Amino acid sequence: MTNALPARGRNIKAAVVRQKGGPFAIETLAVEEPRADEVSVRMVATGMCHTDLVIRDQVYPVPLPIVLGHEGAGIVERVGAAVTRVAAGDHVVLSFMSCGRCPRCAMGQPAYCAKGHALCFGGAREDGSTAMRDSRAAPVHDHLFGQSSFATYALANERTVVKVRKDVPLELLGPLGCGLQTGAGSVMNALRVGPGASFAAFGAGSVGLSAVMAARIVGATSIIAVDVIPSRLTLAEELGATHVVNAGKDDPVAAIHTITGGGADFALESTGRPEVVRQAVDALGTRGTCGIVGAAPIGTAACFDMGEMMSPGKSIRGIIQGDSVPELFIPQLIELHRRGRFPFDRLIKFYSIEDINQAAADSERGTTVKPVLRMT
Ligand SMILES: [Zn+2]
Ligand SMILES: [Zn+2]
Repeated sequence: MTNALPARGRNIKAAVVRQKGGPFAIETLAVEEPRADEVSVRMVATGMCHTDLVIRDQVYPVPLPIVLGHEGAGIVERVGAAVTRVAAGDHVVLSFMSCGRCPRCAMGQPAYCAKGHALCFGGAREDGSTAMRDSRAAPVHDHLFGQSSFATYALANERTVVKVRKDVPLELLGPLGCGLQTGAGSVMNALRVGPGASFAAFGAGSVGLSAVMAARIVGATSIIAVDVIPSRLTLAEELGATHVVNAGKDDPVAAIHTITGGGADFALESTGRPEVVRQAVDALGTRGTCGIVGAAPIGTAACFDMGEMMSPGKSIRGIIQGDSVPELFIPQLIELHRRGRFPFDRLIKFYSIEDINQAAADSERGTTVKPVLRMT
């Protein structure tokens, strides 16, 4: 660890998690100046993702204390000497971190980077150092997904930074960096749902609803949203679902077989619950594919009927970040939004960073689909 106190740096306001389960506490921290490959970003707004909450709860173990936040949007303030992607004044969305050197990165598949897990969940830079210190000069873990953006400023690695056009409201754009790109990318990049296909989203949170919007964009004709929260199903219908199933009342497997006349071509499981994985697989038709994106505790097992998998030629595949290359895909999603075809602003409710614990509670209760924290 190389944690020398910053010779130069600045004070920021950040939401710190110090113990398993939280809460998020707003603290003043000192943060270093950007290193050669880093960018100092004045955050405008940061989305809250389900992953932030499972990290807070240590379902995914990360070192504490830590500054979370991995759906940031802001304005570049300063760049390190080696940074070429962006310059001061650029509007940026912060996405996930990858190494840029491993075989998967070379193949244009950074979501499957060999070092991706360590770089996104390690709570430090690649060399193990952290950039933040608290009021007692004790180190605070950071660089979550290369950014740690529940803060007024983020020290982001250049590889997480995506330059975006300036004529769209920046405060909307942070969630494109993880949840929305996961849902839309799963449909458009990973599963490659096509015109005339049938698609079922198991879970109508921000990922599932993004998938529903994407399925409409690509021309799927039966788009089915499954959830247990009626308000989310209503929103799904408004965003493009042709059918909705309340899994608290009806059997989604039987309903989807009836709607599609034999089973869905594609399903996307975003709840992380093994019994829902089983439903999503059972809801597939011949040669159907189920994508898995829901975060489950490490070691969670799901089961399926081997014969019912093999005979109809079904597939299951895991998907990270919708197979996206953020530099390419996030600007595409912004263009779709500008043309009214990807109205993801409908998912968002704004909170002040001071109200971050309320945002988390509303997200967990399901009353808010996508909380976005304003930093001012
Ligand atoms: Zn890599
Ligand atoms: Zn996320």
